[in-house]
Amino acid sequence: METVGEGGMHMHTVMVVEDEAPIADIVRFALEREGYQVVVATDGAAALDAFRTQPPDLVLLDVMLPEVDGFTVCREMRAASNVPIIMLTAREAEVDKVLGLELGADDYVTKPFSIRELLARVRANLRRADLFDSRANEEARERISVHDLVIDFNNYTVTKRGQPVPLTHREFELLSYMASRPGVVFTREQLLVQVWGSMYEGDERTVDVTIRRLREKCEDDPSNPSYVLTKRGVGYFLRRPS
Ligand code: CA
Repeated sequence: METVGEGGMHMHTVMVVEDEAPIADIVRFALEREGYQVVVATDGAAALDAFRTQPPDLVLLDVMLPEVDGFTVCREMRAASNVPIIMLTAREAEVDKVLGLELGADDYVTKPFSIRELLARVRANLRRADLFDSRANEEARERISVHDLVIDFNNYTVTKRGQPVPLTHREFELLSYMASRPGVVFTREQLLVQVWGSMYEGDERTVDVTIRRLREKCEDDPSNPSYVLTKRGVGYFLRRPS
């Protein structure tokens, strides 16, 4: 993926997965007006097909879809790619938000949403992904080893005893943010603002969910972590390299 300059050299492609035609039309119109290329899929199977043949830069994924549901689509896309995925969930459906994040979604927007909010989320997620890619291209970044865990900033990978640990953008950013100052405890509020941005203010459970996912992927025993540690009553920190 290229980085977008002020001149907009690279047009981002957004895939909209939504079975309700009126909503899909409104979203498509709004995105096209902002200069995005839009691909609409009206069911999960079509979305996965299009995803393979024409990989988008971002996916807007409705949870409630006929046949293959949005969570399944999310899991399959995430297994194949680290493209930003924003889930569209029913209002107040907390379980949807948490499940989406567990399955590797980067973000969620609750229905009914305002187009303005949706566009802001799309922009923020694309910006983060572009930044991530451009940073990944930088030369001479260092790596940090925390015992068996190696965080490589040069190619944005994490390995554990030589085996790759597959992380989403957000998980990698959370881990690498804590790795920027190993041993220093960060509060949930700090992590939320630094890794997710101020739009997430007050949603500190998002940090806990992502920490849990990180531990499931990085730790030998996620319930007794040895890398991503909790400072009770304060927040989280990465164990200092020995
Ligand atoms: Ca739907």
